[in-house]
Amino acid sequence: MNHYSGLLRINLSALRRNWRLLKALSGKAGCGAVVKANAYGVGVDRVAQTLYEEGCRDFFVANFEEALQVKRLLPNPGNIYVLQGCWPGLEMRFVEENLIPVLISQSMVERWLDHVPPGRGRCVLKVNTGMNRLGISLAELQMFLLQPDRLERAGLIMVMSHLACADAPEHALNRQQLSVFEQVVSQVHQCLPMVKASLANSAGVLLGHEWHFDLVRPGIALYGGECTPALRGRLAPVVTLSLPVLQLRQLVVGESLGYGCTFVASKPMQVVLVSGGYADGILRCLSNRARGWFRRELPLLGRVSMDSCCFDVSHLEPSELPEEGDLIELFGDHLSLDAIADAAGTISYELLTRLGERLQRFYFEESSDPAVPQ
Ligand SMILES: *Cc1c(COP(=O)(O)O)cnc(C)c1O
Repeated sequence: MNHYSGLLRINLSALRRNWRLLKALSGKAGCGAVVKANAYGVGVDRVAQTLYEEGCRDFFVANFEEALQVKRLLPNPGNIYVLQGCWPGLEMRFVEENLIPVLISQSMVERWLDHVPPGRGRCVLKVNTGMNRLGISLAELQMFLLQPDRLERAGLIMVMSHLACADAPEHALNRQQLSVFEQVVSQVHQCLPMVKASLANSAGVLLGHEWHFDLVRPGIALYGGECTPALRGRLAPVVTLSLPVLQLRQLVVGESLGYGCTFVASKPMQVVLVSGGYADGILRCLSNRARGWFRRELPLLGRVSMDSCCFDVSHLEPSELPEEGDLIELFGDHLSLDAIADAAGTISYELLTRLGERLQRFYFEESSDPAVPQ
């Protein structure tokens, strides 16, 4: 394999382990998978297929296009939920494709009720329990519950809400949202007892069984993002980003490095230039902040450019120095995704979803792959 650009190694065995862990942590609840945004940049094709093999049958995407993509990939699509619901006019397309919109506003619910012939479609109702982003209000819910047969004919299979602060387990809003959602579920069950309920994202799974209801919806944790303290050290790294060395260079005292001279050598130094920059998703705010890995940790020096960046290898023994084409890891097997996201002042979600098209994606399973590039 030619490493003429950065390499993304995606460990599908690690993805399987993370899904199994979340499933085990979810107890009696079902465990779905959120695969929106190209499976958080990891690649929805292989991710959805791999999780399907593990037994996952509930997939969440953001929009209709993503849903069609997932549907085409799977031998039997199971349940594909569209988190942003159904745009006006697409109601019958959802029905034809057997996709499940998460209806997020009163007008969207009304349109669904008006357009979908009885018994044809399936839908989820999202209720706002305190995040105040998407979802109908409790008052709107009560209004719809005055005509439960209408909801039944419209194929209501689940009510859903979303936690705003699950990554901060001590935050008071977690319990508040739980208690509001419990009310929602109990009101719905009074007239529609078969309707299921779903509240927890990845971090919500770790809040405890009360938050699980019938189906949990982890996303980031599947891909190795340790989004809550209780997951730290428990997930397998799925994505490893490595950048090939283009050039070794000596710096003498006083020489600067790259755009803007933001780094100046105060001693004689050895550095390596690698292929991979902000066009590949290595955020420019990591300039002078990130670390790489080659036999040990290497500070990133100077500005991240569009196509390249630079690491200090001065503290490696001469016999340990990388050569042209050797790979410097930016995160993955040795360096945590969350640590680099933190250094960039962001979260693992943003880092993963910004990984560029130019990176070569290489998918592997641990057992069946004797030739994983290092
Ligand atoms: C993205 C999303 C999730 C997954 O969240 P993670 O924090 O990645 O586990 C779950 N539910 C909804 C509604 C979402 O938008």
